[in-house]
Parts: sequence; C-alpha cells; structure tokens
Amino acid sequence: MQNPTSSWTATVRDLYDTSDIHHLRSHNLLSSQLVEIINSSAFLRNSVSSDEDGTMRWSWSTDGQYSTSVAYKKMVHTGVITPCHKMLWKIKSPAKVRTFIWLLVLDRLLTQRNLLVRGWPAMPSCVLCNQQQVEDCCHLFLTCSFTSGIWSLIGLQFNLALRIDLATPLRFWQLNRKRLPSDKRQLWDSIWAATCWTVWKHRCKVIFDGEQTMQHRILLDVELQIINWRAMRLVTAAC
Ligand SMILES: [Zn+2]
Repeated sequence: MQNPTSSWTATVRDLYDTSDIHHLRSHNLLSSQLVEIINSSAFLRNSVSSDEDGTMRWSWSTDGQYSTSVAYKKMVHTGVITPCHKMLWKIKSPAKVRTFIWLLVLDRLLTQRNLLVRGWPAMPSCVLCNQQQVEDCCHLFLTCSFTSGIWSLIGLQFNLALRIDLATPLRFWQLNRKRLPSDKRQLWDSIWAATCWTVWKHRCKVIFDGEQTMQHRILLDVELQIINWRAMRLVTAAC
C-alpha cells in the first residue's frame, strides 16, 4: 500500500500494528469514516488480519471475504450486541437512521465533545441553545433546552407523558418505552429515532450552513418522516 501523496509506504499489518490510528488518517491511508468505524470497537479492529503480501482478510469468514450476516451473527454471539441493542436494529426506520442510532448509543457521533477528545477543532458551546456547554450526546439529544422543548412538543403531539430526567438518550428511550402500553411502543421507537435523527440533521445545518429552525418545524419534520417510514413499509409489504 502506498500513499499517493507521499513516499510513505506500509503493509496492512504495519497499519494494524500502529497504535495511533489517526497517524494513518494523517497520511490519507484511511478515510475519516473508516477511522471512525475502527475506533468504535477493538472487537472490530481484531476482525481484520493481513496475509504476508499485505492482503487484508476478514478473520470471521473462512474465505477471508467480508459478510454482513457473518459479522452480525458474530457480534450477537459474542455479546457485542445486547438484547437492547438488537431492539434498536428493529426500529422501523431507514437503514441509515438505524446506523445513526447505533452510533448515538455507542457515543460515536462526532459531537463537539468527541471531536475534542480526538484532538480535533471543536466549538466550546452548543449551537442549539447557545450556552457554554460542551456538546455531547446527552446534552444534544436530552438535556439541551432546545431539545427538551422539542420533547415537550412531541409529548403533547403524540399524547405521551415523557420523562426526560434521565441520564442518557438510551435510558430515555428505554424507560419511556417501558411506561407505555405495548401497542404504543413501536410508534414510540420511531418517534424517538426520528426526533434524534432530525435534531442531529438540524444541528449539522446550523453548524455548516448557518440555518436556524424553529422547534415546531422540527416537530413537523418528525411527523412527516414517521408518515414516510410507514408508507415505505406498506409499499415494501405489498411487493
Ligand atoms: Zn444545547
């Protein structure tokens, strides 16, 4: 493997022997997305090995080729995915939203706090409430005054008595789910995922495009997404 922008070369084994994964990123050998995935779990890091010639092999399959189904089964059977995590993957939403939720509960989203931890430039305040509060997942999706206002609107709109005095977004989802009758839980799953997803998209628009949105607009976006997700399921079921 050779970096096209320099004479620095390395085998895949060299890369995986390197303790600082960001060193590889700085040489443009790994994309930022792949660094994020590898950083998310030592378990995943150990799933890849290399042959003598530097060819990458997926250790969990006999032919060395990556397989999503094999990876999923391996993670389930080795305890990486708990029953709670399995439920998250069953939330009725597009795959990109389920992936986002997965990163959220693992605290792997690139929030301002996680950027700081990685030594990257970050803003010292939350762009949603404009408070000098380092933005992490708990603040962004739960305790931020802007977001808690959205949860209040969600509670009113969907007639849900939500508790928001909880430690993490995951606990917020779990505990409020337990308090609901069983016939409302699937709807709550979609509401929670859609709201977190919409808050995240809004936060990114504020940062990158300078676009501010009212809380009522976010509530409307959440409702439209849930309608769309339901329609997609009906279309899929009819096919
Ligand atoms: Zn805030």
